[in-house]
Amino acid sequence: MPSLMSNGDAPAARCKLCGAEAVGPCARCRAMVCADCCELTAGAATTFALCTACARTGGATLASAWRGLLVWLALVVLGVAGIAIAIRVVYGR
Ligand SMILES: [Zn+2]
Ligand SMILES: [Zn+2]
Repeated sequence: MPSLMSNGDAPAARCKLCGAEAVGPCARCRAMVCADCCELTAGAATTFALCTACARTGGATLASAWRGLLVWLALVVLGVAGIAIAIRVVYGR
């Protein structure tokens, strides 16, 4: 039976997938995962762990993670630029 009633311990990080005690963050989504819910993947320079959700959806490559981050940053920059243009249109008459 899982010991969910253990009080007094330091709050351990919980696996985002199954709720067990996590051992480390996913290299892609940074969610804490346990040993059962991550897959170790050998990258170009180092070995990293991906949660099974990330490993399943995006393939076990950090390149796709970086691409996603770049797309996200581009959207943020475009949004900020759009706001700046809107402010200039409103106040710059
Ligand atoms: Zn887990
Ligand atoms: Zn993940």
